[in-house]
Amino acid sequence: MKENDISFILNHLGEERSNYFNSVAPPVIQSSNFCFETVDEMRAGLKKEFEAPFYTRGFNPTVGILRKKIAALENSEDALVFGSGSAAIAAGVISTVAKGDHVICVNKPYSWTTKLLNNILSKFGVETTMVNGEKLSNFEEAIKENTRLIFLESPNSWTFELQDIEAVCNLAKKKNITTIIDNSYSSPLFQQPISMGADMVVHSATKYLSGHSDVVAGVLCGTRERINKIFASELMTFGGILSPHDAWLMLKGMRTLQLRMERSASSGKKIVEFLQNHPKVEKVYYPFSKENLQYELARKQMCDCGGMFSVLLKTEKMEQVELFCNNAKRFLLACSWGGYESLIFPACTLYNSQNYDGSSNYLPWNLVRIYIGLEDPEVLIEDLEKAMALV
Ligand SMILES: *Cc1c(COP(=O)(O)O)cnc(C)c1O
Repeated sequence: MKENDISFILNHLGEERSNYFNSVAPPVIQSSNFCFETVDEMRAGLKKEFEAPFYTRGFNPTVGILRKKIAALENSEDALVFGSGSAAIAAGVISTVAKGDHVICVNKPYSWTTKLLNNILSKFGVETTMVNGEKLSNFEEAIKENTRLIFLESPNSWTFELQDIEAVCNLAKKKNITTIIDNSYSSPLFQQPISMGADMVVHSATKYLSGHSDVVAGVLCGTRERINKIFASELMTFGGILSPHDAWLMLKGMRTLQLRMERSASSGKKIVEFLQNHPKVEKVYYPFSKENLQYELARKQMCDCGGMFSVLLKTEKMEQVELFCNNAKRFLLACSWGGYESLIFPACTLYNSQNYDGSSNYLPWNLVRIYIGLEDPEVLIEDLEKAMALV
């Protein structure tokens, strides 16, 4: 995608300013329903619920602007917006499977994606095989007669393993299997899975797309035909929509998407370099790390790399990991990522946690996930240096 295209999408696409007093910022159309002059017009309106105002669960003009921008950014024909990334993932996945079908999912996807497949869809007769996605042959071997969906997440958000998106999508196409990829880590700016053959792309828009840690949202992109079908079924039935006000916040956040991505990526690189050379660091998990065995693949399919990575600390004691995290004062101890603020999420919080059923404990206790926000990278390095001295 050309730079100009991105700035046009972020600044102008989908905005019909003459419809609302030529206001530069779009209005929040905070209305649940829309009225008509005549029965005839109402009847016509009902037929266009997918793309014109009738009832806000279906279409809302503020949300509609967002749909156009998201679809254009992902190079897809259309997009739907949901009240969370998990809602978008569930709608996409459920639209592709029925009782008796089989799903192949890459190992270690987002934790609630695992739960959707293993705890919920299994109740409805859909079986899932998890595979190590680093080798194409693992997908080939897992394919069965009844495989309908391959779910990818490249890279994932703790240890950042990749899949060869183009190769897996080609394989799926040959076997008539649908592909969905969670592209949250890269945002639409750093990786374009539709152009590599993916059928659908999902994002937790809570992360980079919104970018200000004030909205929980999700998006789903695909062909108009597919998106239309999901609209008329999963979206309208489950109703997991985004409110007009949250859509407005997301539009506001997206004005600076390109700036934020560039900053997070460039600061991330500086801080990864500092940590890779630090004696207390055993290993840095980061797609663009030269030590990453999938470095070539990362370079091939990602045009840049976001500012999130994990470090394995060289220590024998969990208390020392805690000491490091408690003393990195410029980093908030919090989940999520993709906002303006730098964050730390230590894997040791997952140990003995009521919220996790043990399946998440594939992560070593001395692994710490770090997200680099928009602060001065030199200040962040200084802060990490001080905290690291305590390990
Ligand atoms: C956060 C996240 C999700 C879930 O999105 P929500 O907006 O929190 O529902 C899905 N995938 C990835 C990679 C995530 O980081």
